[in-house]
Amino acid sequence: MKVVIVGGGLAGARCCETLRANGFEGEIVLLAAEEHLPYDRPPLTKAALKGELNTQLRTDYDALKIDVRTGTAATGLDTSAKQVHTAGGPVEYDALIIATGAAPIRLPGSERQLAVRTVDDSRSLREKLVPGAKVVLVGASWIGAEVATAALAAGAEVTCIESGPAPLGNALGEEIGKRFVDWWSEVDLRLGIGVREVTDTGVTLTTGEEISADVVVAGVGVRPDVAWLGGSGLEIDRGIVVDENLRTSDPHVFAVGDVAVRWSPRAQERLLVEHWDDARTGPDAIARTLTGGESVAHDPVPYFWSDQFGHKLQYVGHHSSTDTAVVRDGVDGKWAAAWVDDSGLLTAHLSIDTPKLMIGARAAVSAGARPDALALRDIAQPLS
Ligand SMILES: Cc1cc2nc3c(=O)[nH]c(=O)nc-3n(C[C@H](O)[C@H](O)[C@H](O)COP(=O)(O)OP(=O)(O)OC[C@H]3O[C@@H](n4cnc5c(N)ncnc54)[C@H](O)[C@@H]3O)c2cc1C
Repeated sequence: MKVVIVGGGLAGARCCETLRANGFEGEIVLLAAEEHLPYDRPPLTKAALKGELNTQLRTDYDALKIDVRTGTAATGLDTSAKQVHTAGGPVEYDALIIATGAAPIRLPGSERQLAVRTVDDSRSLREKLVPGAKVVLVGASWIGAEVATAALAAGAEVTCIESGPAPLGNALGEEIGKRFVDWWSEVDLRLGIGVREVTDTGVTLTTGEEISADVVVAGVGVRPDVAWLGGSGLEIDRGIVVDENLRTSDPHVFAVGDVAVRWSPRAQERLLVEHWDDARTGPDAIARTLTGGESVAHDPVPYFWSDQFGHKLQYVGHHSSTDTAVVRDGVDGKWAAAWVDDSGLLTAHLSIDTPKLMIGARAAVSAGARPDALALRDIAQPLS
């Protein structure tokens, strides 16, 4: 049997490792659009913006006997012929794993805007973060907050334009997001204003105001990289639709990581997770399905972290916009947040500088806990 993996990111590398770890002895081909071997992305807006850092993953492709083809993008998919198209000709497969991740959303206007998705993006931004540089960030998101942290540390002047009412508001809601405004005190944070376009000298806001900038960074989200799958017949709904076994609408094709929209029996809905932990753990389920003869489910409680303004945020679970957010108070100004649905089920939890709290919260979300009002409001009380 021959397995072809498209996408040389974390999920692609983990597919190589887990297939061999599960005893797969057939041919494995890894098609990677970038010229680099797979590397880790979370440090690109953290340590890598502060200095040179090798973020390459430690996978030993020679020892694993992987045919790695860097600089080779898949350009199309023919599921009836079981072929992936590339500029160098078709590549045949018996099983295909799609791990093409996500691509940043670009703002209208000048090409001089930067987004941080690749190691090359991170290097080119790092060169521009010098004392006195005028940096305009668009989006007070996870990426925006981490870039702001690095830009301030480099002595840059930072302005952030956020169309919503609060930092991290899209992810955590307005009420919780507003509690982070103080962290942005050294940034000229403009909330509730959009960017009309990026210009050759900076940005033009929806109000018509122009702000000059040496560097403009777009942190307005990503979209699953599915453009090359047009006409393939695979079901797409934002990303590639997969079941809990990470199998697509074609039985010989799987998808994993940021590109996949997976059915979660736990959440009873399709999830587009886009977190490092999901890309790291999903490949093992595919490898076990391909080697074991039985389909293996992948449905962990989602987990995400961010390092910003000297703090570590850790979010576990998945809340919907109709869930109730509860602020959990602790001593010495510490706080956390929990989300519960209409039935009192704990759906998600946010810890701030309290990794131990995150571990308990993860177990509670996983166990389907229904904490009482005291446990919800008091950080010292166990959630389950
Ligand atoms: C700057 C940054 C910081 C982050 N910080 C955090 C964090 O703190 N915590 C967290 O949980 N998550 C974080 N993430 C998210 C995390 O890195 C991703 O969830 C993870 O990288 C997803 O892995 P992946 O393999 O699915 O996709 P990717 O890492 O995006 O890899 C996909 C690869 O496929 C390649 N590709 C695309 N199209 C094709 C094609 N047609 N043919 C061949 N190859 C193709 C791409 O070039 C890319 O190399 C961060 C992401 C970024 C960009």
